[in-house]
Amino acid sequence: MIDVTGLVVSYGSATALDHVTLSIRPGEMVALLGPNGAGKSTLANTLAGLLTPASGTVTVHGRLALIPEGRQLFPDLSVADNLALGGWRSGQRDPAPVYTLLPRLAELAPRRAGVLSGGEQQMVAFGRALMSHPDVLVVDELSLGLAPNVTSGLARHLVELNRERGLTVLLIEQNARLAFELCERAYVLESGRLVAEGDCADLAGDPRVAGAYLGGA
Ligand code: ATP
Repeated sequence: MIDVTGLVVSYGSATALDHVTLSIRPGEMVALLGPNGAGKSTLANTLAGLLTPASGTVTVHGRLALIPEGRQLFPDLSVADNLALGGWRSGQRDPAPVYTLLPRLAELAPRRAGVLSGGEQQMVAFGRALMSHPDVLVVDELSLGLAPNVTSGLARHLVELNRERGLTVLLIEQNARLAFELCERAYVLESGRLVAEGDCADLAGDPRVAGAYLGGA
């Protein structure tokens, strides 16, 4: 579904991604972990076509939607209008199917996105992404700034879409515990390079990964 080979992305003379190679098969839910500044958002934005690689290849089979870091909603527009913008490319005007999946959004529809809580805003960003009928969803920091119970509610929706509808998911997370709970496989990015990859169960048992990402657990 996603194939990335030898990807190099730079900002001016600073290399943010240094020969990154990864692949995600259809229907998988895969995590990308790494500390601040590792290059995670750079990878997400490159997959979404917002950044141009200096070298390497990126192939996405099917339609990709990005839930960007910080949600990036239009704060002065209503929830319904934010959703409508998500359907612009797919031509989906009717938000009803998204309301079926995320019923809370139907209640929030007339409200201004900017006045919502962080969790509600993340749900709007989620719904907006679904309006584009994605085959693959890249979620840049699902849990950022959200209370654990809010995050787990959103995570449940994500898992449901993955398991029941076969949506392929790349979950970019600083919260490794959450990522390991939700995903089978993970990649670990540090300073623009992949430093580990494998089954979450193995990574969680790897002292180096556990020490750095699970608080020494
Ligand atoms: P975070 O979780 O803090 O967003 P990240 O893993 O997503 O971190 P990136 O945002 O991809 O990391 O940043 C990777 C590197 O590229 C960092 O060193 C960052 O300072 C740099 N960088 C990111 N965006 C820009 C930009 N627009 N111009 C210049 N440098 C940038």
